[in-house]
Amino acid sequence: MRCPYCGGSDTQVKDSRPSEDGAAIRRRRVCPDCAGRFTTFERVQLRELTVLKRSGKRVPFERDKLQRSIDVALRKRAVEPERIERLVSGITRQLESAGEAEVTSEAIGELVMDGLKGLDDVAYVRFASVYKNFREARDFEALLGTLGEAAPLPEAPEPEPDAPARRRAARP
Ligand SMILES: [Zn+2]
Repeated sequence: MRCPYCGGSDTQVKDSRPSEDGAAIRRRRVCPDCAGRFTTFERVQLRELTVLKRSGKRVPFERDKLQRSIDVALRKRAVEPERIERLVSGITRQLESAGEAEVTSEAIGELVMDGLKGLDDVAYVRFASVYKNFREARDFEALLGTLGEAAPLPEAPEPEPDAPARRRAARP
């Protein structure tokens, strides 16, 4: 495993133990060249998945990318790393066991939104606003409406179920 700091290829495993849910082996590594320390995870991959992006491009599914986009949404939020780990693993397992070799980025986005909704409202709104590419304040209001009691906007209009489709269709 190459050192992420100096690129040295001779890193050593200092400690190896199963993660809390037993679905991964966590290894603490140290680089003898620069003394950099980092952690790697070894996980079961049930199957190879391809992601079909909105652009029509196909790319291999990468757990790390999923983890990064969730980390960005959860930045500076007080959510335990183990819960984030479980969310990422849960989404990955759902995708891998769904039986399709190809998944759309949209389907992944929906799973992430569902997961974040139960984890942290702020992260959910952050992720959804990027994922849905919101352009109007009322899009946010409609989204906040889905959070129920937590919604801080009493004057938010009722979300129209068919409105997003109409707006999408109207875009150039
Ligand atoms: Zn190094």
